[in-house]
Amino acid sequence: MSNTTIDIPGYEGRAVNIKQGQTFRVIDVEGCQIADMFVISSDDNSEYFSPALTKQVIFRTVAKPGDHIYSNRRRPMLTFQNDTSPGPHDMSFAPCDPGFYLDLGADESHPNCLNNFQQALGSLGLSIDPAPDPFNLFQNTAPKANGDFDVGVTLSQAGDYVEFKTEMDVIVVVSACSVDLEVDGVQALGGKSTPLQIQIL
Ligand SMILES: [Zn+2]
Repeated sequence: MSNTTIDIPGYEGRAVNIKQGQTFRVIDVEGCQIADMFVISSDDNSEYFSPALTKQVIFRTVAKPGDHIYSNRRRPMLTFQNDTSPGPHDMSFAPCDPGFYLDLGADESHPNCLNNFQQALGSLGLSIDPAPDPFNLFQNTAPKANGDFDVGVTLSQAGDYVEFKTEMDVIVVVSACSVDLEVDGVQALGGKSTPLQIQIL
């Protein structure tokens, strides 16, 4: 069986249907890139990945290989199988949206993961509004002991990937995050958004 590869240009998002029992990877092609990943049940689009519920079940702030990724109905959607990156992978932040860029002093027309999500889902003829929250792969925003977030440069290198197995038929949406501005004094992406890939094995 040949692999299917979906190329995601920097600043853009893509959506793909993946059947139960398949394995897929989200690959950081050039390194130092955040991937906002949304997971939706193909059978019922009101069931989707819940970071809050997943954190409650796994009892940690971030998932790691061996953990399940849970839906808002407490059903396993994915098994986190492998991670070649140093991580961490944020499960606290909402996707960046027009207001996020306004707050940073940019224009609200700045590319953002919320728009990328809706555009990518729209390419499949679907819409979910309000959008679910993402699993922010490679996003280095670990919480400190006092509860503040510590924003760091994204640590993934070219070719690093995270690998999941699907536990149900799902739609996976991945957005190449566009946060090319300083947040808390840090350029998390090194100043520009670069490509990602989804590879279905
Ligand atoms: Zn983003």
